[in-house]
Amino acid sequence: MKSNFKFTNIKNIKEKDCRDYRQLITPFLNGKLSFERNGELLGHVDTCENCYDELRTTYMVMEGLKRLESGEAFNLGDDFGKVMRDARADYENIRLARKVMSTALFSVIIFTFVILMAGLFV
Ligand SMILES: [Zn+2]
Repeated sequence: MKSNFKFTNIKNIKEKDCRDYRQLITPFLNGKLSFERNGELLGHVDTCENCYDELRTTYMVMEGLKRLESGEAFNLGDDFGKVMRDARADYENIRLARKVMSTALFSVIIFTFVILMAGLFV
């Protein structure tokens, strides 16, 4: 399925099926999702309690198994909250960095244009 997802296109997010998002959960927890997919999933679990629970449960199972093996003490409920906060913070940082980059690029283009125009009239 071809996705023409845009950040501002909320309608598009809603049209996606929960099953599509469930498939993103494991790659998300493994840090394998692209920036855009991360955003889609984070946006969806904000509004869909079922998928949020699924994400939480998957995290508990994955982390629980890992830590049972290592014998580490754990409080998975707290850790899950931190995982989500970190994921959101990362997403926001990248989003912001991209915005700054495009603004910077725009400034360079304008600057170049002004220099060129000034050159024509010297
Ligand atoms: Zn859902």
